[in-house]
Amino acid sequence: MLALSRVFNFSAGPAVLPEEVLRQAAAEMLDWHGSGMSVMEMSHRGKEFTGIIAQAEADLRELLAVPANYKILFMQGGAIAENAIIPMNLLGARKVADYVVTGSWSVKSFKEAKKYCTPHLAAGALQGPFLAVPPAPTFDLSADPAYLFICTNETIDGVEFHELPDMRALGRPDLPLVADLSSHILSRPIDVSRYGLIFGGAQKNIGPAGLTLVIVRDDLLDRALPICPSAFEFKTVAEHGSMYNTPPTYAIYIAGLVFQWLKRQGGLPAMEARNIAKAELLYGYLDSTDFYQTHVEKAFRSRMNVPFFLRDESLNEDFLSGAKAAGLLQLKGHKSVGGMRASIYNAMSIEGVQALVTYLKEFERTHG
Ligand SMILES: *Cc1c(COP(=O)(O)O)cnc(C)c1O
Repeated sequence: MLALSRVFNFSAGPAVLPEEVLRQAAAEMLDWHGSGMSVMEMSHRGKEFTGIIAQAEADLRELLAVPANYKILFMQGGAIAENAIIPMNLLGARKVADYVVTGSWSVKSFKEAKKYCTPHLAAGALQGPFLAVPPAPTFDLSADPAYLFICTNETIDGVEFHELPDMRALGRPDLPLVADLSSHILSRPIDVSRYGLIFGGAQKNIGPAGLTLVIVRDDLLDRALPICPSAFEFKTVAEHGSMYNTPPTYAIYIAGLVFQWLKRQGGLPAMEARNIAKAELLYGYLDSTDFYQTHVEKAFRSRMNVPFFLRDESLNEDFLSGAKAAGLLQLKGHKSVGGMRASIYNAMSIEGVQALVTYLKEFERTHG
């Protein structure tokens, strides 16, 4: 066998996966558990695959402690498609939905909603820079919106909600909170019962692109607009156990292996501790020098996506080429923000972050 050379991949998505999972998938590629087939070749209705999806769902339900009155849906279309699918499913007779806009992804969600309703900007702004989450008591909620939308981790801007808006304290205990968790789902424990719906594309912290997770409370399944495509109607998808259409079977299988890996790591409390340690290591170094700069307010810094800037931006290209030579890839920031960004998802090891900090120090020493 060829020697493997794996880099440290800081991509925002599709992103690094646990090596153990990739090895297991490789070992099972041609013959899954004696079936004589790859998972890719199986009928989605056969007993092998129905076992795989049932196990994946049960493991996810356990990891996130999803209450019994919530459905877990394995869908397609990515988080961007959910920006349309959600209003089509949740508006019912209402014409307004409230949006808190804290970064590039919630801007997109707000704009897409205009096709289906009148989105109301309850807090935040449609233009950056995005550096903080507005405090919930300042939200300007409309009279009777269908839901309140938030993006709890803004992947591009590096802004994370470390506290959820408390709908009770806001006097709106019945207003469903809808949240895009694409880039930090499974990075920390959450209280699912505080949301009406959470969703996320898989390719940041779960598995391959092509799978979208939706976790939705039962009482929200009866609000779809007649124009909602059947394959995207939550109730239809739920009634068919995510098999109304052929689901992304291989992506679900890999996600299932990632869920088992997460359980072996000690579940979400253990992942959170590890993610805090990685984030503290990286931000701690960035804060210790003015050769590098960060802009997001400390209380709202993302543990998953860390944007940073070289004080002298004329060194950007040198920085990136040196990083690449050191096996540290995909550190270039998103074009709308510029600078650098290190995404340090669940599958990024502490060794990867240590290697990055070592490189940051060395680059500073040789260019400072
Ligand atoms: C990546 C990302 C998206 C877009 O996901 P697609 O799979 O490309 O549709 C939306 N929201 C957030 C928070 C993301 O990180």
